[in-house]
Amino acid sequence: MSPKQNTYFFGGGKADGDATMKNLLGGKGANLAEMGKLGIPVPPGYTVTTEVCTYYMEKGKCPPALEAEMQKELVKMSEIMPGGVKFGDAENPLLVSVRSGARMSMPGMMETVLNVGLTSETIPGLIKKTGNERFVYDAYRRLITMYSDVVMEKGAGIDPEEHCGIREQIEEHLQKVKEKKGVTEDTDLTADDLKKLCVDLKKIIKKVLKKEFPDNPMEQLWGGILAVFASWNGKRAIAYRNIEGIPDDWGTAVNVQAMVFGNMGDTSATGVAFTRNPATGENLFFGEWLPNAQGEDVVAGLRTPMPLNNASKTPDQKNIKSLEEAMPKLYKELDAIQKKLEKHYSDMQDIEFTIQEGILYMLQTRVGKRNGTAAIRMAVEMATKESKGFKITRDEALRRVSADNLDELLHPMIDPVAEKKAKKIAKGLPAGPGGAHGQIVFTSDAAAAWYKEGKHVILVRNETSPEDVHGMKAAEAILTAKGGMTSHAALVARGWGKCCIVGCSALAIDARGKKLVVGGKTYKEGDVITLNGSKGVIYEGALPMLPADPKHNPFYKELMKWADEVRKMKVRTNAESAEDAAVAIAMGAEGIGLARTEHMFFDPQRIGIVRQMIVSATLAERKESLAKLLPFQREDFTGIFSSMAGKPVTVRLLDPPLHEFIGDLGAKDIAALAEKMKTSPAKIEARIAQLHELNPMLGHRGCRLGIAYPEITEMQARAICEAAAALTQKGIKVFPEIMVPLIGTVAEFKNQEAVIRKVAEEVMKETGVKFEYMVGTMIEIPRAALTADEIAKHAEFFSFGTNDLTQMTFGYSRDDVGGFLPYYLDENILENDPFQTLDQVGVGQLLECGTRLGRKSRPNLKVGICGEHGGDAESIKFCHRVGMDYVSCSPFRVPIARLSAAHAVLEEKAAKKK
Ligand code: PEP
Ligand code: MG
Repeated sequence: MSPKQNTYFFGGGKADGDATMKNLLGGKGANLAEMGKLGIPVPPGYTVTTEVCTYYMEKGKCPPALEAEMQKELVKMSEIMPGGVKFGDAENPLLVSVRSGARMSMPGMMETVLNVGLTSETIPGLIKKTGNERFVYDAYRRLITMYSDVVMEKGAGIDPEEHCGIREQIEEHLQKVKEKKGVTEDTDLTADDLKKLCVDLKKIIKKVLKKEFPDNPMEQLWGGILAVFASWNGKRAIAYRNIEGIPDDWGTAVNVQAMVFGNMGDTSATGVAFTRNPATGENLFFGEWLPNAQGEDVVAGLRTPMPLNNASKTPDQKNIKSLEEAMPKLYKELDAIQKKLEKHYSDMQDIEFTIQEGILYMLQTRVGKRNGTAAIRMAVEMATKESKGFKITRDEALRRVSADNLDELLHPMIDPVAEKKAKKIAKGLPAGPGGAHGQIVFTSDAAAAWYKEGKHVILVRNETSPEDVHGMKAAEAILTAKGGMTSHAALVARGWGKCCIVGCSALAIDARGKKLVVGGKTYKEGDVITLNGSKGVIYEGALPMLPADPKHNPFYKELMKWADEVRKMKVRTNAESAEDAAVAIAMGAEGIGLARTEHMFFDPQRIGIVRQMIVSATLAERKESLAKLLPFQREDFTGIFSSMAGKPVTVRLLDPPLHEFIGDLGAKDIAALAEKMKTSPAKIEARIAQLHELNPMLGHRGCRLGIAYPEITEMQARAICEAAAALTQKGIKVFPEIMVPLIGTVAEFKNQEAVIRKVAEEVMKETGVKFEYMVGTMIEIPRAALTADEIAKHAEFFSFGTNDLTQMTFGYSRDDVGGFLPYYLDENILENDPFQTLDQVGVGQLLECGTRLGRKSRPNLKVGICGEHGGDAESIKFCHRVGMDYVSCSPFRVPIARLSAAHAVLEEKAAKKK
């Protein structure tokens, strides 16, 4: 069915739509409408809805009523624009821009065509009206360049070979013209040069694309609109959607808007700004501008822009004129508008403006992308004190900081001591924070391919374009020679929280020759460099990195405090050493949810003894090695219990997949083992062969080991209990939770529980010290979840081991999933890697039923999760909904778990309100 209304008008202080209509009008269209309503000077225009796009995708044509609606809107635009301009009028032509605008911002992914409406008929009229022939032909050559690329090539589905695209051929021709004239800047070309250039470009287009450049305004307009629709299904838009998880069926809106020109001379300008600094979060108006230029010059990084005001200047930009200095009155007007916009939206805005002959126009406003550091600072400041006439709630502040934002704050930085001594290669603009090192590559395909081989790469480009997203995603960091803080590279990197430096003009990049010359030295593909994305400095070689240091960030600490006040679930950590436990406590961990005791045995001092224990053929042999392990284990537990000082510690009994210990033993290891065990290497080899398993992850591990060899469980229980008794005697609070792994039946649990309790009683008797402890189990086999009511009659706590539970529910070996998972993700058979993000639909049911059945038998059953999913934001929210008491994750994920647990409560509140 045709949509009822295909176009929505804005301008002249009125608008058909508003900011709430993002789904229909796209983000840009909805915000243009909202700005129009607010009385902010927006050039008039109309939005063709996303419904028209989806209709077009389905039917291959536009709704029949669209044409008449568009004609009406063009008349309204004429009425609002000064000077009686009309679209296609020979005397007094109105030019329009055609821009895409999806529901969610997709920086540079979609298409834009400017100056639509310039033809052989309208050009003389515009020259007469403006008295500026150069300006008109400059506008025309921009239209030709964009239109041929966006509409005639990409829009027509032509996929040229690398470096053969029409845009590149046009740029090359332009470069030749400039070289011939001996000039470097486009602005050095005269009206005659540009006029001739336009004739040449149309010839190139005819030759390459075998089509005439259209000379009819309406044909240009339709071409632009349909090309925007087609761009929704372009390669780069699809790649971006896949990365960002944007559904394919949203479609894009198209905004047709009266052109205003920032390149009409010295009283004209254009710029991009943020109402607060998007890199630091500081409450200072921040941006970039270019005099006598069009907006795309700033966004595309074709000219390096200038700072908007003093607050935007870096120390070496002190002498560059800001807009504040060059046009103080207009700057004041812009400043007032930015304040009004931030107050209206109660959030930092990313705005685009153009000044045409002394008149300021706002082209766009949207909630600005920001890095993690900035997101946290803005959220906390906005919720702490009223500024710009508004204040947000603490809940809202928490909502505005994502798990990814926090992750970014926790990014590694270059070791400052090493950085001082390092060889500096060059300096650029600090576009994405943190430090990174890697091997340089010069194309995105190379970046993606090297990444697949497990290499760390830094993508080095003159500037990036949306075609580069796959390479940018694969790269550790991005470095560009051109562009500013709002260039494509900077926006995308910031959105992803990637280390990035832009506008490093000292770099001479030869992408085809795969080399880079800087400071007289050549760096080839594969050479290693380090970037400091927070300062914009590039170094030779790989510098050592320091883990991120959130400790000194007051905004982070404040936000975490608020999260802790809101969340209901506790957050524990997975740690096996006192050092890791200490790091986790500093990150806010409230206990240990999983100490994997087999990890304590990887130490070179112990691994030999563990191997002896595993290959022991007799009870006596095994007891001998266990006796050697006991003091080590006691020491481990003493260390962990004391550093957790009274906080609960879940110690899991041995769960070693045997192949991890004896799978890859070489002749030397076997000889050493034989010598220690006073036997022959051949006998050891025979024993290893006997122990060999075809499916070790489903083999003799977990409680199966303790059941076959109870002396192992006895030794571990003894080490735990003796450590607990000794510390209790010293007055140090301990609370061990002894956890049995890989239970599938209640009988397995009962068997191991009996061994543990017997040892605990013995130790209490021997030492005369009473200490509290619990015995519980991992739930990591589907059968355990399904019979949780039986198990909970005996087990005092449950901890879901979702790594194994995922393995056994899907039937995917967790060690071998890498072989087929990429195909599954590519083919959309799986949406995510289920070992990373909990499969809520399937595995989630087992978590829900395990918890429910367990609590049926034991209402106060303590339930947690200690698989990798305990550190994943979406999975954590699911755990909250299931009613778990805590999540446990690796130390560096603890802050993310604290925030996500708070988000879970806030989402629940919001759902209840609805
Ligand atoms: C699990 O299976 O989720 C778990 C935590 O145990 P492991 O990863 O050690 O098997
Ligand atoms: Mg497990």
